[in-house]
Amino acid sequence: MSIFTKIVNGELPSYKVAENEDFIAFLDINPNAKGHTLVVPKKEENKIFDLSKEEYVALMDFSYRVAKALEKSIVCNRIGMSVIGLEVPHVHVHLIPINGMADMQFMKKEKLSNDEFVVLAKNIAGNFE
Ligand code: AMP
Repeated sequence: MSIFTKIVNGELPSYKVAENEDFIAFLDINPNAKGHTLVVPKKEENKIFDLSKEEYVALMDFSYRVAKALEKSIVCNRIGMSVIGLEVPHVHVHLIPINGMADMQFMKKEKLSNDEFVVLAKNIAGNFE
């Protein structure tokens, strides 16, 4: 069982920003930038292109809505999107509020306190439609 399935099942905590029947979105605990969010299908699948086309399109649709909430919540140049999955083999879309290329390189990390994560997640969740 993946670490993200444990979050989906409520066995591990997360800073949740959005959820529906099929997807959950929560803050990355080691963010590239403030508001770095992961969008995860609840059904555990390793690689994004192993999803059916319908599941893939639905993931993109949900990610679009989360990105819109991020744009309303975080001051940034734009929202970057990336799919990697080398660390956690459970499909997830990285949505990252970026101001430059360095924010997309997964090297420069932002340190946030628990309180900062809580406030961020609440703000983003409040802008999710
Ligand atoms: P990757 O699999 O390479 O796309 O990276 C996995 C991402 O998941 C990394 O950015 C981690 O910081 C993030 N991550 C790992 N465990 C957790 C967790 N428990 N809650 C939130 N984010 C996590």
